[in-house]
Amino acid sequence: MNDILPEQSPAWQYLEEKFLGVVNNYSYGEIRTPLVEQTELFNRSIGEVTDIVEKEMYCFEDRNGERIALRPEGTASIVRAGIEHGLLFNQTQRFWYRGPMFRYEKPQKGRYRQFHQIGVEAFGMGGADIDAEVILLSASLWRSLGIIDSLTLEINSLGSNEARAQYKRALVEFLSEREEQLDDDSKRRLHTNPLRILDSKDASTQALLDGAPNLLDYLDEDSQAHFSALRAILDSANIKYVINSRLVRGLDYYNKTVFEWTTDKLGAQGTVCAGGRYDGMVEQLGGKSTPAVGFAMGEERLLLLLETLGVLPSSAGESLDIYLSAQEKGLQPQVILLAEELRSQFPGLKIRTHCAGLKNILNKARQSGAQKIVLIKTMQAGGITATLWHGQQITADLTVANLIEALDSEN
Ligand code: ATP
Ligand code: MG
Repeated sequence: MNDILPEQSPAWQYLEEKFLGVVNNYSYGEIRTPLVEQTELFNRSIGEVTDIVEKEMYCFEDRNGERIALRPEGTASIVRAGIEHGLLFNQTQRFWYRGPMFRYEKPQKGRYRQFHQIGVEAFGMGGADIDAEVILLSASLWRSLGIIDSLTLEINSLGSNEARAQYKRALVEFLSEREEQLDDDSKRRLHTNPLRILDSKDASTQALLDGAPNLLDYLDEDSQAHFSALRAILDSANIKYVINSRLVRGLDYYNKTVFEWTTDKLGAQGTVCAGGRYDGMVEQLGGKSTPAVGFAMGEERLLLLLETLGVLPSSAGESLDIYLSAQEKGLQPQVILLAEELRSQFPGLKIRTHCAGLKNILNKARQSGAQKIVLIKTMQAGGITATLWHGQQITADLTVANLIEALDSEN
């Protein structure tokens, strides 16, 4: 779990502002849900035999003996909230969210125990057009960040529950005959969650899978048409993609469309955004059947990518406009008040006051990197004597009014 320090925050703000611009552009509304939920909510939505539920959740009992968990992801809470507030049935909704998520993982570059996701969820729309829209929304963010050329869109279709169940049987049959060649994790999954074997990181398991039945051959007609429609929209929108029939995603709840945006620039943690359709979840959690699609992206991974590619604006949040200080001891309280006046006059500027000893004040002020330095010599009702520096001394002995004027004309 990381601290995010002031020198790092401008990059986070930059990313989040870009995202905000995009979701506004697409008319999605923000939803904020609590960081804790009943553990049961995640067990039921994410699935009992997923990595998250089996070994990654922070679960505890509260003082009343209720089993609660720090949220490992955002979708379950949003579905819970949507049902609770009657936002879903017979309606369409487009939400976005951001915030910390918690998973007990092995920490490494791009993988942390508290990490941050931003994401979108769209409810009440079952067609391929909305699947395309959320993908296009993500592509729009990549374009505005200048990273689209470093990302690959991978898509797949998991089909209907029945088609997937049929495929699962075929896959298990194929792999059971070759069980001894599987890695240990996959051996275990063969009996718990066989589809997850498809995204095993083990090279010999992957080689074995080359001969396995292909998920896309098992698609039901409806899912096939849905997948073609999605591809047609992506083609017309000039969004390049690869079809990866082994893309199944870590969470249990998906059907039909799944997708990931990946990069080869971040090593093993190369997925920066992942999502798909989860038509069964609302009903699973007690609501009326409602189709849904969404994605989540990892902010840490995106920031690592922006940094690696050198596309973070260097000035983000840095430059200080005015450094304001007293030159004589007793004047500090008045300087604070003068700073208030300047800030209300120039709400767009960064104005910092000096609130410490006055020894070597000009040097200290210069070290701040401020564009302009204002040193107050005397201050009486209505008038001040000040020195204004901008690289070199440019003005001395000002009144408040012409200090403001001088700062203004310099802007
Ligand atoms: P992975 O296969 O990398 O574990 P996942 O399938 O568990 O990913 P999702 O639950 O789909 O990931 O989360 C969506 C995105 O959130 C991921 O693509 C990734 O960018 C980010 N993410 C997930 N887990 C972490 C983590 N522990 N630390 C940082 N980012 C993460
Ligand atoms: Mg994971």
